[in-house]
Amino acid sequence: MSKNALITGASRGIGRAIAIEFARAGYDLTLCCIKNIESLERLAKDLEDAYKVKCAAYQADVSDPHAVKELFSKIEPPTVLINNAGISYVGLITDMSDDDWQKTIDTNLSSVFYMCRAAIPHMLSEFSGKIINVSSVWGESGASMEVAYSASKGGLDAFTKALAKELAPSGISVNAVACGLIDTDMNSRLSDEELAEVVSDIPADRIGKPAEVASVILSLAESTNYLTGQIIKVDGGWR
Ligand code: NAD
Repeated sequence: MSKNALITGASRGIGRAIAIEFARAGYDLTLCCIKNIESLERLAKDLEDAYKVKCAAYQADVSDPHAVKELFSKIEPPTVLINNAGISYVGLITDMSDDDWQKTIDTNLSSVFYMCRAAIPHMLSEFSGKIINVSSVWGESGASMEVAYSASKGGLDAFTKALAKELAPSGISVNAVACGLIDTDMNSRLSDEELAEVVSDIPADRIGKPAEVASVILSLAESTNYLTGQIIKVDGGWR
């Protein structure tokens, strides 16, 4: 069977690193992002040239169920689905608007439901498939000023464990990688002092690299389906 991965939020950060890692491993790729389609198309072309894989780029808002349906009407069904797209919201809960709450939950959690619902029928027919969700350590421990984000990732962890049970009899594995602090634009708001304070709590004494998360995700994709329902922390030993 051909190796074919769909990666959401692949225009930058962790998603981009996952795309590079999977292309290097010989996967054909479907990449999507919400805004930076030019940069995603450039990445797709570079990966095709460098690794001789097929790589298609799409602009799609995964928080919108209609956009997800439309995306799946255009693509080869994936054998590996990586739900990576996500947004953060930092602020007091009392300052958060209904729209900001909804957008955080829709982007980080409902999107994963829409993507899985669309991808699972083909995986069932093949009696195989891998679903890997990109979560956060805040999903388990919770973060002050990131209540909606923490709730969305906690929901994603529960979604992962429940869906793993539902799909294990069908040969499909579902896991999540819960990242600690990783060096991407998502953290660009942190000042040098704030960053140093966070790092002082990390046993590895540094923040993580997107490529390190990507290599863990590739190992999960290549691993036995008996490894399922796990939330694997990539956090430098923070918890
Ligand atoms: P990033 O902001 O650099 O990239 C986010 C990507 O998601 C972009 O490609 C963007 O286009 C895409 N995206 C956002 N909303 C989307 C939507 N509605 N539809 C389609 N694509 C959308 O972020 P990152 O740091 O690379 O984060 C990737 C994932 O890792 C997220 O789920 C994030 O919650 C998780 N994570 C990151 C960290 C960290 O420290 N960077 C820590 C824990 C978890």
